[in-house]
Amino acid sequence: MNGDIMDDLKSYNLLFEEIKDFEEKDIKKLKKLGVKSYFDLLYNFPRAYEDRTNIKKISEVTNDEFVIIKATVIRAEMTTSMNRRKLFKAKVTDGTGYMELTWFGMPYAKNYVKEGNDMVFIGQVKRRFGFQMVNPEFKVLKGESVFEGEILPIYSLVNGVQENDVRKLVKWSILHKIELVEENLPREILEKYKILGRKKAIRCIHFPKNNKEIEDAKRRFAIEELIILQFGILKSKFLLDENKRFYNLEDKKELVKKFIGSLKFELTTAQKKVITEVHKDLSNGKIVNRLIQGDVGSGKTIVAEILLLYMVENNYQGVLMAPTEILAVQHYLSMIDELGEQGVKVEILTGSIKGKKRKEILSRLREGDIDILIGTHALIEDEVEFHNLGLTIIDEQHRFGVEQRRKLREKGSLSNLLVMSATPIPRSLALSIYGDLDLSVIDELPPGRTPIRTKCIKDNIEKNKMYDFIRKKLRAGDQAYIVAPLIEESETLNVKSVEELYEELSNLELKGFNLAILHGKMSNQEKDEIMHKFKNGDIDVLVSTTVIEVGVNVPNSTIMVINDAHRFGLSALHQLRGRVGRGSKKAYCFLVSSSTNDNSVNRLEVLEKTNDGFVIAEEDLKFRKSGEIFGKRQSGLSDLRFTDITTDVKTVKLVRDIAIEYLKINKGKITNEFLIFDINKKFDEKKLKG
Ligand code: ADP
Ligand code: MG
Repeated sequence: MNGDIMDDLKSYNLLFEEIKDFEEKDIKKLKKLGVKSYFDLLYNFPRAYEDRTNIKKISEVTNDEFVIIKATVIRAEMTTSMNRRKLFKAKVTDGTGYMELTWFGMPYAKNYVKEGNDMVFIGQVKRRFGFQMVNPEFKVLKGESVFEGEILPIYSLVNGVQENDVRKLVKWSILHKIELVEENLPREILEKYKILGRKKAIRCIHFPKNNKEIEDAKRRFAIEELIILQFGILKSKFLLDENKRFYNLEDKKELVKKFIGSLKFELTTAQKKVITEVHKDLSNGKIVNRLIQGDVGSGKTIVAEILLLYMVENNYQGVLMAPTEILAVQHYLSMIDELGEQGVKVEILTGSIKGKKRKEILSRLREGDIDILIGTHALIEDEVEFHNLGLTIIDEQHRFGVEQRRKLREKGSLSNLLVMSATPIPRSLALSIYGDLDLSVIDELPPGRTPIRTKCIKDNIEKNKMYDFIRKKLRAGDQAYIVAPLIEESETLNVKSVEELYEELSNLELKGFNLAILHGKMSNQEKDEIMHKFKNGDIDVLVSTTVIEVGVNVPNSTIMVINDAHRFGLSALHQLRGRVGRGSKKAYCFLVSSSTNDNSVNRLEVLEKTNDGFVIAEEDLKFRKSGEIFGKRQSGLSDLRFTDITTDVKTVKLVRDIAIEYLKINKGKITNEFLIFDINKKFDEKKLKG
């Protein structure tokens, strides 16, 4: 066993040109971090900074913030946790408030953190019952001023790798390898727009002297990434011949007409408009490359279905990729239900379909014996080959990256692509980012929808009333989703919280009703069974993590309860809320939050006031706090690492200007080799050899 690891490490070592510079244990750490080269290390940017020049008052700290506090220890003790782990706890105050500090597996902390000591603590604040920090760094003050002015990088860590390890390794790489890094933006652009050079930016992003250096470096990397994207987009537009017919369709519409006629509802004007737009491209032999944006519940699925049917009728296959198995199954079930009668052969392919069944699907697909294939990521795999794929549709596209979209699209004989998204992005931005995509917007909800009534639940009295209400509704035959508190980003902890909530509800508030659990750690089969039962009404209440987040459609469920709502972004809450109110019954959403932070409560009230996804997205931006540098993205543009498209509007516009100007100046020189920009461009080849 040991031998294997060592062998593995050896081949890993080869990726570094000079093994001798790093010790074995360092290499192991790099491996854990997923860093494969000096370049990876240099581009492993901090997710935040610890500004040691800036000490916070305890009364001013906020949840999740990285802070430095200067405080006196008023209590310190060794204890054991519920699962019998030894831990060291302290309570400290700086005169403005108190904070609880806990150290796991750091028994030596007790030698420093002693009652009466004046100390400095550095770490991330968590709000539980009051403010806490876990495993903060500490330093005893002995009369000296706090710290030499320093801004230290904070990296994303994995188990077994400490902050200081990464700092050390990055520092070493900057000292010894930075000269090899090659500039990948034209000098004239750097000069004209006062953009930091690549090497300087790498230095500044890791070890900035002041905040301006951080800002400048961030700007540079955002521009680097956006420029590459913009040129890619503009180039493909440039190379495309507007008048060319790429293929011929017979343009048969009988099945589609029949299908639309058989629907229980009339399509909305917005749905018809989008269908017409896409049909126009298809029937003219144009390559379809289009983003369909429509708020939750606007009815994107039926649009997809109709377009797939159109392709089938015209002798092509279609494919629909969804981000989760539950969603894929849902699409599949409704399609066999609706299209099966018309003789359309619909199949599903997901990771859990294996063995004989999988082989059979793959071979039928290759022979053209399947008309429409629905699935998850599993569709991207190489072994999935089509007979003559004519249209690729990707649902909830923000869950997939560019590369995944491209791979699926390229399986087609016609590379027609439609991506559907509920994430609202202002039109100007959408065009900048998805500049190569045409845009269709479904800006209308089907009629007869009563808007979801949303209410913030702030205390136990309101909570009791809420459960009274829920019980009444459940007795009347409605169904409910109850989302458990979001603990950490750890799914395991979230599973616990779902289980706890389930226990509590089944024994107390919702005793006597049929409850079930749904979470991401369950097997797909288990999840499907539960969803199926929920759809059939055999389950009254689904207690779950956010796995129900996107797309799931159970019209009879009218109640959504989201616990710890303040921990979610508004857009995420809006998406979750969109799981109810999908039928004609009146729907309700309760946002439960015991947060006493005014800001986060005000924020939630936005959802009480509006159901408009675009307004919500904008409000989300206003309330979003800065500080998380390259943190989690909610923008739904998973491909961009350094740009937050919803906040870096200015940079996006600047880059668009730069790209257009540069292309104008160089008009005529544009060929496939024209683009020198390459984010993957790493080291100067000559220097490497010489
Ligand atoms: P989303 O855009 O969020 O994916 P769905 O496609 O799941 O929304 O549609 C939500 C619900 O609205 C579904 O139950 C669907 O059958 C229904 N629906 C779609 N279009 C219409 C329409 N024109 N009139 C009435 N109901 C519709
Ligand atoms: Mg959908």
